[in-house]
Amino acid sequence: MYDALVIGGGLAGCSVALQLARDDHRVLLAEQATYPRHKLCGEFLSPEAQASFERLGVLEAVRRKGARPIRTARLTAPTGTATDHALPHAALGLSRYELDRLLFQAACRAGAEGRTGARVTNVQGTLKGGFTASVDGETVEARLVLGAYGRRARLDRALERPFLEQQTPYVGFKAHYAGPAARSLDATIELHSAPGGYCGLSPVEGDRINVCWIGHVDALTDSGGTPTEMLRQKLRQNPALDERLQTLTRVSDAFEAVSQVPLMPKSRFAGDVCMIGDAAGMIAPLCGDGMAMALRTADLVHPLASDFLAGRRDAAAFRGAYRSGWTRRFGRRMRLGRWVNAAAFRPGAARMLVHTCRAVPPLARWLIRNTRGRATGRATGPRLAAAGR
Ligand SMILES: Cc1cc2nc3c(=O)[nH]c(=O)nc-3n(C[C@H](O)[C@H](O)[C@H](O)COP(=O)(O)OP(=O)(O)OC[C@H]3O[C@@H](n4cnc5c(N)ncnc54)[C@H](O)[C@@H]3O)c2cc1C
Repeated sequence: MYDALVIGGGLAGCSVALQLARDDHRVLLAEQATYPRHKLCGEFLSPEAQASFERLGVLEAVRRKGARPIRTARLTAPTGTATDHALPHAALGLSRYELDRLLFQAACRAGAEGRTGARVTNVQGTLKGGFTASVDGETVEARLVLGAYGRRARLDRALERPFLEQQTPYVGFKAHYAGPAARSLDATIELHSAPGGYCGLSPVEGDRINVCWIGHVDALTDSGGTPTEMLRQKLRQNPALDERLQTLTRVSDAFEAVSQVPLMPKSRFAGDVCMIGDAAGMIAPLCGDGMAMALRTADLVHPLASDFLAGRRDAAAFRGAYRSGWTRRFGRRMRLGRWVNAAAFRPGAARMLVHTCRAVPPLARWLIRNTRGRATGRATGPRLAAAGR
């Protein structure tokens, strides 16, 4: 019998497994993939993420992997008009190829039992009576199950989650590029709005640039159904993005791709399975805060789960505290993120937003601040934990 089964070894899963293992709980961290692996993501780590890394004791390791500092954000309208804004604190750029492996290893070092190539299916049970699940075909028992399996997975269907009833029109693609423009992008993240979607360019280790976009499925279909053509025919209509890509060459073998990116609200629990990270709710990618939020949901649930496992909090109190803590910390930025995402998909609104941010820089600063959490970590950790109790 494990104390906790954590489903998914992305940021949320590795972080919570590490923290629960540090508290001497018996944790099984099951990841269906094997590391290292590429993953669709803009790979921009907002300052808030660094605070979590510091608490997990991995910030230095993240830096040693070659994470690139990012200090400025440039937004461009579909016309190419640009506006630059200093970030309130430096962000980092590191590939998921390096980051997820590093976090998984850190969780295992902390005492979690990590299994890779281990898909979890058939989750059943309750917080009161305990759970069973199949992990790579083997039946395991756990007192608590944390769903950290990302934005959309087969398990959502098995758990009959209501958000699946809504279709979403968003597709996403990502690849790494290299070339002369990589140097001019040093320390800058660029977000280019274009017909059919928006595209982010962000530096990662090894002098590479992450090129990642989210677009409307109609824009993909109109341009023949391939990411290369979608980029060429739709997104590169933005002259600023076109100019950047002229001197960049794709170095990834293929694009990572995802469809049905679910930005709608989700429930925090499916039955008694507690959802964290994207499984609890995904913030619009252009906020660049999804990974930080995944880490913060782990920080939020960790003391509550620890209390539940130690008998200091019953199932109802655990559920209530997590639901209300989540809404308090993330509800507002999720709503704002959906609003900014909708604007980015309308060329007229995107143009107006960029022009207004140029004319009124405090608006840009307000948007940047309010689509993410606090950057400073040391003090925030214990406060978060205390607030959760
Ligand atoms: C286009 C796009 C761009 C983005 N850009 C950024 C960005 O620049 N910055 C940022 O902070 N965020 C960004 N995000 C969001 C970010 O990628 C997510 O918020 C983040 O990965 C969430 O972490 P997670 O741990 O919740 O889930 P994930 O990182 O998705 O990890 C979930 C893990 O669960 C595993 N899994 C799934 N099902 C099972 C199962 N049944 N059994 C075992 N394992 C399972 C998966 O293999 C995966 O490894 C972007 C998202 C998109 C779509």
